[in-house]
Amino acid sequence: MDAKIEKLQQAVNESNYIVFFGGAGVSTESGIPDFRSQDGLYSQKYKYPPETIVSHSFFMYRTDEFYDFYRDKMIFADAEPNAAHKKLAELEKAGKLKAVITQNIDGLHQKAGSREVLELHGSTLRNYCMDCGKRYDGLDIITGTTGIPKCSCGGTVRPDVVLYEEGLDGDVIRRSVEHISKADMLIIGGTSLVVYPAAGFIDYFRGKHLVVINMSETSRDGAADIVIKGKIGEVLSQIRAE
Ligand code: NAD
Ligand code: ZN
Repeated sequence: MDAKIEKLQQAVNESNYIVFFGGAGVSTESGIPDFRSQDGLYSQKYKYPPETIVSHSFFMYRTDEFYDFYRDKMIFADAEPNAAHKKLAELEKAGKLKAVITQNIDGLHQKAGSREVLELHGSTLRNYCMDCGKRYDGLDIITGTTGIPKCSCGGTVRPDVVLYEEGLDGDVIRRSVEHISKADMLIIGGTSLVVYPAAGFIDYFRGKHLVVINMSETSRDGAADIVIKGKIGEVLSQIRAE
């Protein structure tokens, strides 16, 4: 493990365009469950599997039930950034890291101070009325209400997150692919890499150091020059930014 951390440090030292690509595993050390770990949401028992509930059609036809699950399992108003979020923000400040590309919707990278954050799946901190488009920033419209959150116009307010069956934002895709193709180092962390199209964007990487930091195996372990099985906050906290 220590030799691997040393190798990771050396790669960081050599690189000037680091891009981080992450997922739900980045926030588990902040107390937010992921989907596919042992205590992730997929292992818990519901009437429907999470990807069914968090889908466009379920949202449209069973909006009430969607919001029950969403408030209960996907909103963590008190969550704070952990060592992984903080180190990535530090690396950006030091001029080493150019972008965080995340599948997470919790806003914790920004809260830690990261500036260039590309949210492939949107954010729970943005909401809008489906009728008039009025925006409701923050979580108040979700946590301060019960049932289906309503706009002042009477319309239904929905989160600005990408549900299953919905497309990703074109501009976010373009900028993500651009960063990845320019990167000299790509760190993949805390993601099972099974959600597409997001996971496919890492194929644009042409740089020197490909790193995977994840608790369980991923499809890219074979292609990576450094694979660290461990908690990403614990791993990254050992890295010096400068
Ligand atoms: P996933 O649940 O499919 O996979 C998480 C991966 O992270 C697993 O491989 C697990 O072994 C690993 N992991 C867990 N804790 C870790 C840690 N401390 N350090 C290192 N690795 C750790 O998550 P995914 O790949 O992001 O895909 C799930 C989808 O669910 C995403 O699209 C995302 O939008 C959504 N989601 C988001 C959040 C969030 O915003 N925090 C939480 C749950 C789900
Ligand atoms: Zn409205």
